[in-house]
Amino acid sequence: MEYKYNLAKLQDQKEKIEALIAGQSQKIRRVFPQPLEDEFWSKNMERARKHAERYVWAGVLSYFVLMLTIIPTDYWILEDQYFVHDFTLCLLGIINGGLTLLIFYFFATLPKLRPYFHSASLVLMFWVLVTTSCLTMSILTPAMKLQAMAIVSIIYVLGYILTGVKPLQMLVTGVLAAIASVASLIWIEIDFGPVVFMRILVGSSILGFVISHMIFARERMIFLYSARAKISEQIHRIHNTELLHLSQQDELTKISNRRTFDEMLNVYFSQAKRDNSSLAVLFIDVDFFKNYNDFYGHQKGDDVISSIAVTIKNAIRHMDFVARYGGEEFVVLLPETDANGAYAVATNIFKAIERLMIPHEKSTVSQYVTISLGLTVYRGEQDISKEALLGIADQALYKAKILGRNQIYYQNLTADEFDKLYNL
Ligand code: GH3
Ligand code: MG
Ligand code: MG
Repeated sequence: MEYKYNLAKLQDQKEKIEALIAGQSQKIRRVFPQPLEDEFWSKNMERARKHAERYVWAGVLSYFVLMLTIIPTDYWILEDQYFVHDFTLCLLGIINGGLTLLIFYFFATLPKLRPYFHSASLVLMFWVLVTTSCLTMSILTPAMKLQAMAIVSIIYVLGYILTGVKPLQMLVTGVLAAIASVASLIWIEIDFGPVVFMRILVGSSILGFVISHMIFARERMIFLYSARAKISEQIHRIHNTELLHLSQQDELTKISNRRTFDEMLNVYFSQAKRDNSSLAVLFIDVDFFKNYNDFYGHQKGDDVISSIAVTIKNAIRHMDFVARYGGEEFVVLLPETDANGAYAVATNIFKAIERLMIPHEKSTVSQYVTISLGLTVYRGEQDISKEALLGIADQALYKAKILGRNQIYYQNLTADEFDKLYNL
C-alpha cells in the first residue's frame, strides 16, 4: 500500500505546482514556497555556472574582437596630448576586465572554488564596476567618456543576466558599486560630472533589474512546467509498475497468479526444450481444506493459504517459480532440475509445511494442516506438449490424494503415462 501513499503525496505536490502555475500567470504570487524557491535559485546559479563553463571560448573570442576594435581605434580617438595617459588607462581597463572574467571562469569551473561561485559573482561584479568606472572615467579625452559610460552600463546588464544571482542582490551590489565608484572618482579628484554618471549607473542597475525580472518570470514558468512534468512522469511510472504488479500478483498471497504462471511456463518450457535441460513441475494442494474452512472459518483459511505461500517461496531457489494456481492449490516450476533434485525440493516444502504445525482438527490424516504434492520432470528432449506436462503433474497430485494424502507422489513422465492419462 506504500505506493498509494507515494501516489497521494505526488498528486498533492502536483496540485501545488499547478496552483503556482495559475498564480504565476495571474501575477498573484511571484515567489514560490521556500524549498521550491531555494531549488529554483540554486538551479539558476548552476545554469549560469554551466554557461560560463560551456561558452568560455565564445567569451574569449568576443573579448578578443572587442580588444581588436578598441586598441587600434584609440589611435584616432585619443587626443595627442593625453595619448600615453589615456592609452595606458584603456589598456589597464581591458586587462582588468579580462582578468575578472578569467577569475569568474575559475570560480565556475574549479571544483574547489565552485561552492563560492555565488559570492564570487557578487564580489567580482562590484570589483569590475568600480574599477572600470574609475579607469575609464579617468581618461582625459572627452569623447571617451561616452564610451566609458556605455561600457559600464553594459557591464551592469550583463551582470544580471550572466551570474544567475537573485536580481535584488544584484541591485544592491550595483547601487553599492555606483556609490563606491562615484566616491572614488571624487576622492581621486577626477572631473567626470558625478550627477550624470550616477544617473547612468543607477539607471543601468534598475534597467538590468527589470530585464532580469522579466527573464526570471519566464524561467519560473519553465521551472514549474518541468517540475510538473517530472512529477507526472513519476506518477505515471508508479501507476504502470503497480498495474503490472496487480495484474501479475495474487491479491491474497502476493505471489504470482495463474496468468503469470501460464506465461512463465511458456518461457521455462521452451527454454528446457531449446537447451535440452530438465524442468520439474510440482502441484501442491492442501488436504481437507474445505473441512478446515468449515470448522475454523474462511478468514483463518485465508491465513493458512498465505502462510503456505510464504513457506513454499522460502523453500525454493531464486530462479524457481511459484504461483497460486487456484483456491488452495499451488504450482512450482524448477528449471534445470532432475528428478532427484525435484524430489529433494518437494521434501523440503513438505517438511517446512509440517513444521508450521497449523492445527487442523478436521483432518483425518494428521492433527496439523498437511499437503499432498504431485511431481513430474520434463526432459528437454521429450516430445510432449506443455499441456500434457501439466496434465501429468496434476495426475501425480491426484495419485498422492487417492493414496491417502499427506504425501509426495512422483510420476514418471513417459509417453505411456501420457497415453494412459488421456485414455482415462
Ligand atoms: P482435498 O484437497 O484433501 O481432497 O480436500 P479439500 O477439502 O481440500 O478439497 P478441495 O481441494 O477441492 O477443496 C478446496 C477448498 O478450498 C474449497 C474452499 O472451501 C477452499 N478454498 C478455495 N479457495 C479459498 C480461499 O481463497 N480462501 C479460503 N479460505 N478457502 C478457499
Ligand atoms: Mg485441497
Ligand atoms: Mg484444491
